[in-house]
Amino acid sequence: MNMKNTRRDFLKTVALAGAGALVGGNRSPAEAAAPPPAKAGLKVPTRPFGKTGVEVSILGMGTMYDIINNQINLRKSIERGVTYWDTADCYEGGRSEKGIGKFFTSHPEARKEIFLVTKSDARDPAGMDELLARSLERMQTDTIDLYFVHGISNINEMDDNVKAWANRKKKDGQIRFIGFSTHKNMESCLMGASKLGWIDGIMFSYNFRLMNKDGMKAAVDACTSAGIGLTAMKTQGGGSLRIESESEVNMAAAFLDKGFSDAQAKLKAVWEDTRIACICSQMPTVSILMANIAASLDKTSLDAHDWKALEQFAEETRCGYCAGCSEICAAAAGGAPISDVMRHLMYYNSYGDRDLARAQFAGLPADFKSRMAALDYAAAERACPHGLPIARLMKEAGELLA
Ligand code: SF4
Repeated sequence: MNMKNTRRDFLKTVALAGAGALVGGNRSPAEAAAPPPAKAGLKVPTRPFGKTGVEVSILGMGTMYDIINNQINLRKSIERGVTYWDTADCYEGGRSEKGIGKFFTSHPEARKEIFLVTKSDARDPAGMDELLARSLERMQTDTIDLYFVHGISNINEMDDNVKAWANRKKKDGQIRFIGFSTHKNMESCLMGASKLGWIDGIMFSYNFRLMNKDGMKAAVDACTSAGIGLTAMKTQGGGSLRIESESEVNMAAAFLDKGFSDAQAKLKAVWEDTRIACICSQMPTVSILMANIAASLDKTSLDAHDWKALEQFAEETRCGYCAGCSEICAAAAGGAPISDVMRHLMYYNSYGDRDLARAQFAGLPADFKSRMAALDYAAAERACPHGLPIARLMKEAGELLA
């Protein structure tokens, strides 16, 4: 591929995506959400997913929103080769899976192109039976390509019952591969998975803030050696607390001079780690989808200066980012689910998705929520390796999310 042309196309796409947002008020919603494509025919590259023998698109469509009323996102994603689709039984109260089912009903030929991923919040075989059956029915499909146990925080959750259940469902043809997602205690979950011998895939938080930690490097290495397919999520490294940072502004300006945004640079940082098969990105608009596709097609590598800028920004905003090491703060605060609350604040403050933040916060135990303002977080703050102002943030969460 001609790098100059690709780069020019890439720049054009980014500019068009921005222009689309500016003139959207004069067009229909569908037109406003659909900037012209980068270049006819260009599709997102693929990578092998562990030892499954399957090639997946390096950009995956995250669907934690109302897919029933956003069918155009699926149509545009498939046209551009974004064929890894990620959902969960619980997303949008089922409207994510139902929206995918609606798409497959009107485009039955599309199913064979898609690597379909969904997740179960149940851990027990009976509960997993029920949720898998519901996912299959909602999505109008006979099989799930990759079935995740959703959001584990300890590898012991992937016990022999789950293993036996997965083997049965593989034999029945209802799932092809098994794994888990995690955004808590990722390093130990990944390291544990690498020793189990039956985990096919993992989705975990991975970004420029986390990827250079020694423990994370070792865990990713171990999973790669074990042939486990790896999907990165939360690749923008958004924080629970917005911190004004001069280096963020300078970094964004420097990236723009090179032809990409800071959001695209953060995707590139993860893709430069070839042990990662796919980035699962929440893409609720076609503009975001196109900008991410453009980033996946652009061949410009980050240089040492770019990496230094990302590292400096990460360091400057360290005390606003929760790394998910929940064992540490929970142990120091009587088991309080601090990292969950930090994630809800991230949805609120970094994603700007207040409904999602409040919906997820609502799912925390009522007993904890009634006590959270009165708990003593001093020991948790002392233990937190990122120095988060936990007491202040828990108070803020109570005010914003309750
Ligand atoms: S110890 Fe700090 S960084 Fe780790 S999960 Fe708790 S609040 Fe987040």
